[in-house]
Amino acid sequence: MSYPAIEINLSKIRENTKVITNLCKDYGIDIVGVTKVSNGSIEIAQAMIQGGIKIIGDSRLGNLKNYEDLSVKKMLVRLPMMSEVGEVVRLCHISLNSEIETIKALSIEAQKAGKIHEIILMVDVGDLREGIFDEEEIVETVKEILKLKGIRLIGLGTNLTCFGAIIPSKENLGKLVTIRDNINKEFNIDLEVISGGNSSSLCLIMNGEMPKGINQLRLGTSLLLGLIEVIWTRIPNTHVDAFKLIAEIIEVKEKPSKPIGEIAMDAFRNVPTFEDKGQMKRAICAVGRQDCEPDFMIPEDERISILGCSSDHLILDITHCHKDYEVGDKVTFILDYIGILRCMTSAHVRKIYVNQ
Ligand SMILES: *Cc1c(COP(=O)(O)O)cnc(C)c1O
Repeated sequence: MSYPAIEINLSKIRENTKVITNLCKDYGIDIVGVTKVSNGSIEIAQAMIQGGIKIIGDSRLGNLKNYEDLSVKKMLVRLPMMSEVGEVVRLCHISLNSEIETIKALSIEAQKAGKIHEIILMVDVGDLREGIFDEEEIVETVKEILKLKGIRLIGLGTNLTCFGAIIPSKENLGKLVTIRDNINKEFNIDLEVISGGNSSSLCLIMNGEMPKGINQLRLGTSLLLGLIEVIWTRIPNTHVDAFKLIAEIIEVKEKPSKPIGEIAMDAFRNVPTFEDKGQMKRAICAVGRQDCEPDFMIPEDERISILGCSSDHLILDITHCHKDYEVGDKVTFILDYIGILRCMTSAHVRKIYVNQ
C-alpha cells in the first residue's frame, strides 16, 4: 500500500446525487453531473449515473474521452478551443458556446462527421466570466447559428459565482428566462433548455426563489460534497466526507513553536509570522503542495491543526491529541473542493474506491 492516498466513497457520491436530483425534479430541473475535479474518474462518473444523472459534463476533453463507453450524453462545460472542435464533435453531444466563429467551426466538423452537435449559447448575466453580455449580440448570434447545418441550438445558459462571485438571484436568472422568451418569439423557435448555472444556483431552490423556466443546472460541488458554498449551506441528507486524504507520518518531534533565527521568505515566497506557543509536539506527513491543498482539507482528528505545507512536507501540531501518534501512522483529512481537485489530479496520490 502506498501513500498518500485518496479514499473516494462512491456510495456517498451516489446518495448525494440521488438526494439532489430528486430535490431538483420537484422543480422540473434536470441535472448535468459535472466531474471536472475528478480527473476523468470513470468510477465517479458511474456513481453519478447510478444516482440518476443523464448527462455528464466536464471542462476537459481528456476527461470526457475516459467516459466514451458510458451510455449517457456528454457535455463540454468549458467553451471549446478552436483547435479542438473536431474532438468536441467526436466526444460530446452538447457544448457550451459564446463565439460564433467557434460554432461555425463546430458546424463544419459536425457535417463532416454526419452528426448533429447540440449547442447551449452562454449568456453573461453579470459574473463576467464566459457568455455574451450584450443583448443585441445574443440575438445576432442566434440568427447566425440558425443558418448553420450540423448544429442544433437547444437553449441558453449562464454561469455565476465563479469569477465575479455574483450570487444567483431571481433577477439575474429571471433575465435569462426573459431573453429566451424574446428569442423564441422573434425567431419563432422553441429553445427548450435554460441551463441556470452551477451548484451556487441551488440556493434559489433552498429559499424558494428559483425562476420558472430554469430547467437545467450543471452541478459538481454539490453532488460531491452536498454543499452550496455561496450560502454555506449543507443540503439535508447528504454527505460532506466522500473524499478523504490519507497521509503517512515520517517525523514526530517536540520542537519550539517559533522558528529560530532571522526570517526571510518561505518556499512559496511568503514572509511567515509565528506566535510563540512554547514547546510543541509536531508531526510531518509525507505529502505536499504537489498533492494537496492545506487550506481545503480538515484533519479528521479535531485535535490536530495544520501548521503549514511545502512541496513535499505537511507539518502538523499534534500537541493536544489524545492519540499518541508515531512514525508510520496514518493521518486522515476530509477534503473540500480544491483539495479534491489537487489529490485527484496528482499522479503521486493513490486512488482508493470504497463502496459502502
Ligand atoms: C465547474 C462548472 C460547473 C459546476 O460547478 P460547481 O460549482 O462545481 O457545481 C458548471 N458549469 C460550468 C460552466 C462550470 O465551469
